[in-house]
Amino acid sequence: MSDSEDGSAHWTSRAHHFVTVDAETCHIPEGIDAVCAVRERVEAEQGMEIPITWFIRFQRTWDEYVQIDAADYFSGPITKAFDGFELGKPQLLRLRKRGDEIGWHYHAYSYVHRDDLSHEKKVAILGADLAACGAEIRRRYREFEIQSFRWGWFFVPDYSLFAVLNDVGVRIDASIMPQLAGRKVQKFNVTHPVSITDEPRKIGGTWFVPFARTSLIHDYNMVSHDLGWSAQDEQQATQSREALETRLSAIANELGAVEGAFLTYEKALARENAFAADRV
Ligand SMILES: [Zn+2]
Repeated sequence: MSDSEDGSAHWTSRAHHFVTVDAETCHIPEGIDAVCAVRERVEAEQGMEIPITWFIRFQRTWDEYVQIDAADYFSGPITKAFDGFELGKPQLLRLRKRGDEIGWHYHAYSYVHRDDLSHEKKVAILGADLAACGAEIRRRYREFEIQSFRWGWFFVPDYSLFAVLNDVGVRIDASIMPQLAGRKVQKFNVTHPVSITDEPRKIGGTWFVPFARTSLIHDYNMVSHDLGWSAQDEQQATQSREALETRLSAIANELGAVEGAFLTYEKALARENAFAADRV
């Protein structure tokens, strides 16, 4: 059963909610602290555990993606990188110990910025880069036991890339938003594909868990910042943290009323596998 390509009612048979953070800027350390402070207050008030999945951005630099178009280059060593795991490492180690999940976040910058290249060429570049980055993450951060992945902007450039991700240990995808199909990705000349599924389903070795009963938080949104493409002052950051607290409390109330639980993807997968083993 565990290798079934069928969807499973078990993922959805109990009330659950995923709290996810896309941590992707230089504000990762303060962002983690801000989210954790909110989470701990709600946990104490509600008497409920709130494990979080942290999708941490790791990839090469913007300039490389925009300037270089040789797939061979992207198979090569990672010499420069945005390494969010390094930025938040002491905190992420503590979060891992307390039962949080650490995942990988990656934006297909080369794909959306290189209108001059064919889809096939861009997918070849992405395949080379994901294999190299994934291997590097496993080499540097084995202790995080990463198996979940989220594409930036929820944009999946090509589903064939999940075979590459599977080779570097990715077992769960958290990037599917069926309602985005056919819509533009940000301001780019690229549109979201039709989703491979609109409910949790294992396809080709990857569990696709579409965005439903899921909260999305960004590291930079929890703190004052000026990133050029996004800015807010301390007052706005405080409002964002308060809004998060209100929302988590409301979800905790709803889950409590139906004996539900906050889940991480790895916990959901472990539950799924145990359920499948029982049925064999
Ligand atoms: Zn992102």
